[in-house]
Amino acid sequence: MKIIQKGNKYTNYSSRDGHVPCCIVNHISAGSMSSMDNWFTSSGNTVSSAHYGVSKDGRIHHYVDIKLMAWANGITSTATTQAPAKIVRDHPGVNPNKYTVSIEHEGTDGNLTEEQFAASVWLHRHIQAEIKRIWSKELQLDDYHVIGHYQIDPIRKANCPGPKFPWSRLYKELKGENEVSKIPVKIIADGKSIQNGLIIENVTYAPVRVLAEVLGAQVTWDQKSSTVLLESRQFGK
Ligand SMILES: [Zn+2]
Repeated sequence: MKIIQKGNKYTNYSSRDGHVPCCIVNHISAGSMSSMDNWFTSSGNTVSSAHYGVSKDGRIHHYVDIKLMAWANGITSTATTQAPAKIVRDHPGVNPNKYTVSIEHEGTDGNLTEEQFAASVWLHRHIQAEIKRIWSKELQLDDYHVIGHYQIDPIRKANCPGPKFPWSRLYKELKGENEVSKIPVKIIADGKSIQNGLIIENVTYAPVRVLAEVLGAQVTWDQKSSTVLLESRQFGK
């Protein structure tokens, strides 16, 4: 996936003031990708910005450096104690822009195209990797750390990212990366079947003793050194 740099000298940003990003906020742009590009690079815009934008055809535009704060989720200090998002209430009095990374999505109601959804999932993981690379911090991609704008500002931003935003699919997809794929397989060695093989993350596992003995090798287990010794009978005693 390619990230296209779009921010210019007019793009709004501030310092994170030492805060490490620990939260991704999803938004809907309520307009086209080109109007998003124009607005986030316009000298007339002195009110808002975002780190990234994802188009309906799956392009990712980059406006504000992740090391800096974008102007996307500002609320009053008092509102931080009343926000639906727990992560915001856990930072009372702190401007959420300080510790969030914002993704805008081209569209109006949160309904994402397949290309857009795939790009957004990729971008969430990319942000996670960037936070690890820059700050050596682990960002969990769960419903505490990945939220919608309406969870920060439920009155003014009730429809951001919109009623059709695919939350459950997104969380499932983001969680999916940690689920280990296990495929049971039948292993046949020299015509003899070994029933309980397993492919875990592209590596095939089978009981060593059964497999070795079928192939005419000797197996010794050395408990002291936690070593399994395999010796071919052909070259043995
Ligand atoms: Zn928003």
